[in-house]
Amino acid sequence: MHIFDMATPTKTLINDSINIVGFQFDGTACYRKGTKFGPDHIRAASGNIETYSPYLDRDTSDLKNVFDLGNLDLGLFLDVEKSWFHANEHFDSFFKEKDLKQDNIKMITLGGEHSISFAPIKKYLETYPDLVLLHLDAHADLRDGYAGFHYSHASIIRRVLDHFGDDHKLIQYGVRSGTKEEFAWMNENGTRMESHEQLIENLLFFADDRPIYLTLDLDYFDPSFLPGTGTPEPGGEDFHSFIKLIKVLSNKNFVGADITELSPEIDPTGNSDVFAAKVAREILLALA
Ligand code: MN
Ligand code: MN
Repeated sequence: MHIFDMATPTKTLINDSINIVGFQFDGTACYRKGTKFGPDHIRAASGNIETYSPYLDRDTSDLKNVFDLGNLDLGLFLDVEKSWFHANEHFDSFFKEKDLKQDNIKMITLGGEHSISFAPIKKYLETYPDLVLLHLDAHADLRDGYAGFHYSHASIIRRVLDHFGDDHKLIQYGVRSGTKEEFAWMNENGTRMESHEQLIENLLFFADDRPIYLTLDLDYFDPSFLPGTGTPEPGGEDFHSFIKLIKVLSNKNFVGADITELSPEIDPTGNSDVFAAKVAREILLALA
């Protein structure tokens, strides 16, 4: 059985549910496009892996109330920014009559390039005034716009910071590429974790009811494990260190996640798709 096969197709949110939604957008990618194929490749690859996680001792086939909202509507625009805004509105429309917290709804948004995380993160920040935003990425994504796009993939964290309140907290780990200014900002603001140990310690320090949202850019992982991404950076993490992290999150108030930047055509072996699907399985089980 496919891990996402057990996800019932739906068009609307119901209470006490975990929901998968795809955002097939690669409009602002500068180097190599193709992340728009990410959501459907993760869904397809999930058919080739077991539903049982020996790491968490949980099985996706035991989960009730997992739904797949399909892919967001991008409209028919020549202007990529209009498509992006259109899909953002589609995402927001799910919450006209539903509330993430009150109705116990969790979202897993599949990208797409990293700019797709804006809509879910903004919604989570609005809902949870004390949200911890955990950002795993090879890149800082703190540029103030990039290549003419205010909401560029290289600016996603900068853009969500515009919506931060006093009690929101940003934690960044895996960052090994960026401008001098981006690194200076992270160091000044104490957002950058310098080691995996420091990351785990910081997460354990939070109260168990503190909501944590994960935004995962798959280039966080080393390209030797996951080459299928547009801007690979050597020196990344492996699956084992991710599992250590997921075990911590599974015992915390883990409320939602997005998985971005899988570019399937760059890795024709399909191994990156399987890697991403396995990561998605662990995230789904940790959220359950
Ligand atoms: Mn990145
Ligand atoms: Mn990124």
